[in-house]
Amino acid sequence: AKAAGRNGVRWFEHGMLDDNNDKLSLSAALRQALEHDELSLVFQPQLDLGGGGVVGVEALVRWSSPRLGSVAPDRFIPVAEDGGMIIQLGGWVLRSACAAVVQMQAELGQPLRLAVNVSPRQLRSATWLAEITDAIEASGIEPKQLEVELTEGILIEDHGDVVAVLDALREVGVTIVLDDFGCGYSSLAYLTKFPIDKIKIDRSFVQEITSADTDAAIVDAIIVMAHALGMTVVAEGVETEVQERYLRERGCDEVQGYRYSPGVPAPEVVRVARAWAGV
Ligand code: C2E
Ligand code: CA
Ligand code: CA
Ligand code: CA
Repeated sequence: AKAAGRNGVRWFEHGMLDDNNDKLSLSAALRQALEHDELSLVFQPQLDLGGGGVVGVEALVRWSSPRLGSVAPDRFIPVAEDGGMIIQLGGWVLRSACAAVVQMQAELGQPLRLAVNVSPRQLRSATWLAEITDAIEASGIEPKQLEVELTEGILIEDHGDVVAVLDALREVGVTIVLDDFGCGYSSLAYLTKFPIDKIKIDRSFVQEITSADTDAAIVDAIIVMAHALGMTVVAEGVETEVQERYLRERGCDEVQGYRYSPGVPAPEVVRVARAWAGV
């Protein structure tokens, strides 16, 4: 495994970050990246299955390093979490994404919701709530346009603190989305213990809809259960028309995936929205 590390780019692409030295150098490179403007955002459109076309976007961070090439978020987000840079990175994502969505909706002539991914460490940061409200005020978006996507992992940590932060967020008017639902720690109990507005069905289930009966059954159950609890359902990783049709028939509210668009730079979103108007 070590041999692959001779070339830094290959090393990272192959995801062999178990090595501590390597994590350290990636961590140092990421610190630099934050200072030198190496991060950017792409936006993946989200569509309303009821015929509303593109109704929102999910902000996804990208890192293009002069030395390492493009590094995938699945590689550097965990490093940013470990090293604490996630606070700074997450703040940048939030502010930049809010500003970008204001531009996009101006060009589109209709409001767009904005979903941002939030790490456990951000949620636990004392300044995070203030950063959210500051970003909303500075950009002028409505609080209800902003969605924060949390993974189930957050919910198994200090229960009381998390509930307090989520309650405060809700007070502000921000929507709380449970990301990657169905994989990981998934417990139905979380859905009633935490103030969750929306569930995002993990793409592993969506992609098995047509091949495995049990996954289709899980998708059905998630949609029924979420609606019974008054939550909205979005499915990620939708790649085919068959998947879309299935999800629509089952009453899924929204979709995102390569069928419509990958994450694209802000100006591209308008083009995608026009192409998929009324879907
Ligand atoms: P995620 O939140 O589950 O984001 C969805 C991922 O699935 C994205 O990968 C997206 O490009 C990919 N995807 C979208 N549609 C499809 C599809 O139809 N098929 C398939 N096979 N894949 C699809 P990406 O951009 O590489 O992001 C990976 C993860 O990195 C995200 O997973 C999220 O957990 C994390 N991440 C990205 N941006 C941020 C950020 O700003 N902050 C934090 N904390 N995490 C982030
Ligand atoms: Ca997400
Ligand atoms: Ca997800
Ligand atoms: Ca996922």
